[in-house]
Amino acid sequence: MDLLACVLELLAPTRCAGCDLPGAILCDACRDVLPRIERAGACPRCGAPYGHLVCTECWQSEPAFSATVCVGSLVPPLARCVTLYKDSGERRLGPVLGALLAGTAAEWAGWPDAVVPVPASAASLRRRGFDHTRLVAEEVARAFGVPVLDALAVSGARDQRLLGRAERARNVADVFALVSGVRAPAHVLLVDDVVTTGATVDSAAGTLLAAGADEVRVGAVARAW
Ligand SMILES: [Zn+2]
Ligand SMILES: [Zn+2]
Repeated sequence: MDLLACVLELLAPTRCAGCDLPGAILCDACRDVLPRIERAGACPRCGAPYGHLVCTECWQSEPAFSATVCVGSLVPPLARCVTLYKDSGERRLGPVLGALLAGTAAEWAGWPDAVVPVPASAASLRRRGFDHTRLVAEEVARAFGVPVLDALAVSGARDQRLLGRAERARNVADVFALVSGVRAPAHVLLVDDVVTTGATVDSAAGTLLAAGADEVRVGAVARAW
Protein backbone atom coordinates (compact mmCIF):
# COMPACT_ATOMS: atom_id res chain seq x y z
CA MET A 1 0.00 0.00 0.00
CA ASP A 2 1.50 3.38 -0.90
CA LEU A 3 1.61 6.40 1.41
CA LEU A 4 -1.46 8.05 -0.04
CA ALA A 5 -3.44 4.83 0.34
CA CYS A 6 -2.26 4.55 3.97
CA VAL A 7 -3.38 8.10 4.75
CA LEU A 8 -6.73 7.55 3.07
CA GLU A 9 -7.17 4.32 4.99
CA LEU A 10 -6.53 6.18 8.26
CA LEU A 11 -8.99 8.92 7.37
CA ALA A 12 -11.70 6.64 6.05
CA PRO A 13 -11.11 2.97 6.87
CA THR A 14 -12.23 0.42 4.31
CA ARG A 15 -15.63 -0.96 5.18
CA CYS A 16 -17.18 -4.17 3.98
CA ALA A 17 -19.60 -3.60 1.11
CA GLY A 18 -21.87 -6.27 2.56
CA CYS A 19 -22.07 -5.50 6.27
CA ASP A 20 -20.30 -2.12 6.69
CA LEU A 21 -17.84 -3.44 9.30
CA PRO A 22 -14.32 -1.98 8.97
CA GLY A 23 -11.64 -4.21 7.47
CA ALA A 24 -11.86 -5.70 4.00
CA ILE A 25 -13.87 -4.40 1.04
CA LEU A 26 -15.81 -7.69 1.24
CA CYS A 27 -15.34 -9.58 4.49
CA ASP A 28 -15.07 -13.35 4.82
CA ALA A 29 -18.38 -13.56 6.70
CA CYS A 30 -20.23 -11.83 3.86
CA ARG A 31 -18.45 -13.96 1.24
CA ASP A 32 -19.67 -17.02 3.11
CA VAL A 33 -23.30 -15.93 2.99
CA LEU A 34 -23.45 -14.63 -0.59
CA PRO A 35 -26.84 -15.65 -2.06
CA ARG A 36 -25.23 -18.09 -4.48
CA ILE A 37 -27.16 -19.60 -7.34
CA GLU A 38 -26.13 -23.22 -7.63
CA ARG A 39 -25.85 -24.18 -11.28
CA ALA A 40 -27.45 -27.53 -10.56
CA GLY A 41 -30.57 -25.69 -9.41
CA ALA A 42 -30.82 -23.14 -12.23
CA CYS A 43 -31.90 -23.06 -15.86
CA PRO A 44 -28.68 -23.85 -17.78
CA ARG A 45 -29.66 -21.40 -20.49
CA CYS A 46 -30.60 -18.23 -18.59
CA GLY A 47 -29.56 -18.95 -15.01
CA ALA A 48 -33.02 -18.52 -13.46
CA PRO A 49 -33.04 -20.58 -10.25
CA TYR A 50 -36.24 -22.52 -10.93
CA GLY A 51 -34.74 -25.98 -11.19
CA HIS A 52 -32.08 -27.61 -13.31
CA LEU A 53 -34.10 -27.95 -16.53
CA VAL A 54 -34.32 -25.37 -19.32
CA CYS A 55 -37.05 -22.97 -18.16
CA THR A 56 -40.31 -22.23 -19.97
CA GLU A 57 -39.19 -18.79 -21.09
CA CYS A 58 -36.04 -20.19 -22.70
CA TRP A 59 -38.08 -22.91 -24.45
CA GLN A 60 -40.40 -20.27 -25.84
CA SER A 61 -37.96 -17.49 -26.70
CA GLU A 62 -34.79 -19.42 -27.68
CA PRO A 63 -32.26 -16.84 -26.48
CA ALA A 64 -29.19 -16.14 -28.62
CA PHE A 65 -26.86 -17.16 -25.79
CA SER A 66 -26.34 -20.82 -24.95
CA ALA A 67 -25.68 -20.73 -21.20
CA THR A 68 -25.61 -18.38 -18.23
CA VAL A 69 -23.71 -18.32 -14.97
CA CYS A 70 -24.48 -15.79 -12.22
CA VAL A 71 -22.63 -15.41 -8.94
CA GLY A 72 -25.87 -15.06 -7.00
CA SER A 73 -29.28 -13.50 -6.60
CA LEU A 74 -29.65 -9.75 -6.36
CA VAL A 75 -30.41 -9.78 -2.63
CA PRO A 76 -28.21 -8.76 0.32
CA PRO A 77 -25.31 -8.85 0.76
CA LEU A 78 -24.64 -9.20 -2.98
CA ALA A 79 -27.24 -6.55 -3.86
CA ARG A 80 -25.55 -4.09 -1.51
CA CYS A 81 -22.19 -4.78 -3.18
CA VAL A 82 -23.69 -4.15 -6.62
CA THR A 83 -25.34 -0.91 -5.49
CA LEU A 84 -22.19 0.40 -3.82
CA TYR A 85 -20.21 -0.51 -6.89
CA LYS A 86 -22.51 0.86 -9.56
CA ASP A 87 -24.20 3.77 -7.90
CA SER A 88 -21.78 4.89 -5.18
CA GLY A 89 -18.67 4.49 -7.30
CA GLU A 90 -16.80 2.02 -5.06
CA ARG A 91 -14.50 0.93 -7.88
CA ARG A 92 -12.46 -1.41 -5.69
CA LEU A 93 -15.40 -3.80 -5.94
CA GLY A 94 -14.84 -4.28 -9.67
CA PRO A 95 -11.98 -6.77 -9.34
CA VAL A 96 -13.67 -8.40 -6.33
CA LEU A 97 -16.92 -9.02 -8.21
CA GLY A 98 -14.97 -10.06 -11.30
CA ALA A 99 -12.99 -12.63 -9.32
CA LEU A 100 -16.23 -13.98 -7.82
CA LEU A 101 -17.70 -14.33 -11.31
CA ALA A 102 -14.57 -16.01 -12.67
CA GLY A 103 -14.69 -18.46 -9.76
CA THR A 104 -18.36 -19.20 -10.37
CA ALA A 105 -17.70 -19.79 -14.08
CA ALA A 106 -14.47 -21.73 -13.40
CA GLU A 107 -15.63 -24.79 -15.33
CA TRP A 108 -15.65 -22.65 -18.48
CA ALA A 109 -11.89 -21.99 -18.17
CA GLY A 110 -10.26 -22.72 -21.53
CA TRP A 111 -13.53 -22.27 -23.42
CA PRO A 112 -13.75 -18.53 -24.28
CA ASP A 113 -11.55 -16.89 -26.90
CA ALA A 114 -12.38 -13.48 -25.48
CA VAL A 115 -14.49 -11.73 -22.86
CA VAL A 116 -16.86 -9.11 -24.24
CA PRO A 117 -18.43 -6.66 -21.77
CA VAL A 118 -21.98 -5.42 -22.32
CA PRO A 119 -21.19 -1.77 -23.07
CA ALA A 120 -22.45 1.12 -20.98
CA SER A 121 -24.65 3.75 -22.56
CA ALA A 122 -23.21 7.25 -22.84
CA ALA A 123 -25.71 8.40 -20.20
CA SER A 124 -24.65 5.81 -17.63
CA LEU A 125 -20.97 6.49 -18.31
CA ARG A 126 -21.62 10.17 -17.63
CA ARG A 127 -23.58 9.39 -14.48
CA ARG A 128 -21.04 6.96 -13.01
CA GLY A 129 -17.79 8.26 -14.44
CA PHE A 130 -16.57 4.74 -15.14
CA ASP A 131 -17.54 1.64 -17.08
CA HIS A 132 -18.45 -0.71 -14.24
CA THR A 133 -19.12 -3.77 -16.39
CA ARG A 134 -15.80 -3.47 -18.19
CA LEU A 135 -13.87 -3.55 -14.89
CA VAL A 136 -15.62 -6.81 -13.99
CA ALA A 137 -14.94 -8.18 -17.48
CA GLU A 138 -11.25 -7.29 -17.18
CA GLU A 139 -10.92 -9.39 -14.04
CA VAL A 140 -12.74 -12.33 -15.61
CA ALA A 141 -10.50 -12.10 -18.69
CA ARG A 142 -7.40 -11.99 -16.51
CA ALA A 143 -8.52 -15.08 -14.62
CA PHE A 144 -9.17 -16.97 -17.87
CA GLY A 145 -6.04 -15.68 -19.61
CA VAL A 146 -7.93 -14.24 -22.58
CA PRO A 147 -8.33 -10.68 -23.90
CA VAL A 148 -11.19 -8.28 -23.26
CA LEU A 149 -12.73 -7.40 -26.59
CA ASP A 150 -14.75 -4.18 -26.81
CA ALA A 151 -16.84 -5.56 -29.63
CA LEU A 152 -20.16 -3.91 -28.89
CA ALA A 153 -21.39 -0.35 -28.93
CA VAL A 154 -24.69 1.03 -27.69
CA SER A 155 -26.87 2.77 -30.20
CA GLY A 156 -29.45 5.07 -28.63
CA ALA A 157 -31.11 3.03 -25.87
CA ARG A 158 -33.16 4.90 -23.30
CA ASP A 159 -32.16 4.54 -19.67
CA GLN A 160 -33.30 1.05 -18.61
CA ARG A 161 -33.81 2.14 -15.04
CA LEU A 162 -36.73 4.33 -16.01
CA LEU A 163 -38.60 1.58 -17.82
CA GLY A 164 -40.94 -1.24 -16.84
CA ARG A 165 -40.24 -4.90 -17.61
CA ALA A 166 -42.03 -5.06 -20.97
CA GLU A 167 -40.61 -1.73 -22.04
CA ARG A 168 -37.13 -2.91 -21.11
CA ALA A 169 -37.44 -5.90 -23.36
CA ARG A 170 -38.56 -3.70 -26.27
CA ASN A 171 -35.93 -1.08 -25.51
CA VAL A 172 -32.99 -3.42 -25.88
CA ALA A 173 -34.08 -5.03 -29.14
CA ASP A 174 -31.42 -4.25 -31.75
CA VAL A 175 -29.80 -1.81 -29.40
CA PHE A 176 -26.24 -3.04 -29.87
CA ALA A 177 -24.05 -2.55 -32.87
CA LEU A 178 -20.74 -4.17 -33.66
CA VAL A 179 -17.77 -1.85 -33.29
CA SER A 180 -16.46 -1.31 -36.80
CA GLY A 181 -13.50 -3.44 -37.77
CA VAL A 182 -14.16 -6.04 -35.06
CA ARG A 183 -14.78 -9.66 -35.89
CA ALA A 184 -16.25 -11.75 -33.11
CA PRO A 185 -14.20 -14.83 -32.17
CA ALA A 186 -15.81 -18.28 -32.13
CA HIS A 187 -16.35 -18.57 -28.38
CA VAL A 188 -17.44 -15.41 -26.57
CA LEU A 189 -18.03 -14.99 -22.87
CA LEU A 190 -20.38 -12.02 -22.60
CA VAL A 191 -20.20 -10.27 -19.23
CA ASP A 192 -22.91 -8.13 -17.68
CA ASP A 193 -23.49 -6.80 -14.17
CA VAL A 194 -27.08 -7.82 -13.52
CA VAL A 195 -29.28 -10.06 -15.66
CA THR A 196 -33.01 -9.41 -15.21
CA THR A 197 -35.20 -10.39 -18.15
CA GLY A 198 -32.22 -11.53 -20.17
CA ALA A 199 -33.28 -9.20 -22.99
CA THR A 200 -30.08 -7.14 -22.85
CA VAL A 201 -27.72 -10.11 -23.06
CA ASP A 202 -29.98 -11.74 -25.66
CA SER A 203 -29.68 -8.69 -27.87
CA ALA A 204 -25.91 -8.42 -27.31
CA ALA A 205 -25.42 -12.14 -27.98
CA GLY A 206 -27.49 -11.88 -31.16
CA THR A 207 -25.23 -9.11 -32.42
CA LEU A 208 -22.15 -11.22 -31.67
CA LEU A 209 -23.58 -14.28 -33.46
CA ALA A 210 -24.37 -12.12 -36.47
CA ALA A 211 -20.77 -10.92 -36.35
CA GLY A 212 -19.35 -14.41 -36.67
CA ALA A 213 -19.37 -15.91 -33.16
CA ASP A 214 -20.29 -19.62 -33.01
CA GLU A 215 -21.46 -19.56 -29.42
CA VAL A 216 -22.02 -16.92 -26.76
CA ARG A 217 -22.25 -17.71 -23.06
CA VAL A 218 -23.21 -15.18 -20.42
CA GLY A 219 -21.55 -14.45 -17.10
CA ALA A 220 -23.21 -11.98 -14.72
CA VAL A 221 -22.60 -10.83 -11.20
CA ALA A 222 -26.21 -11.07 -10.13
CA ARG A 223 -29.61 -12.39 -11.24
CA ALA A 224 -32.68 -10.28 -10.53
CA TRP A 225 -36.41 -10.82 -11.19
ZN1 LIG B 1 -19.14 -8.08 5.56
ZN1 LIG C 1 -34.11 -20.14 -18.81
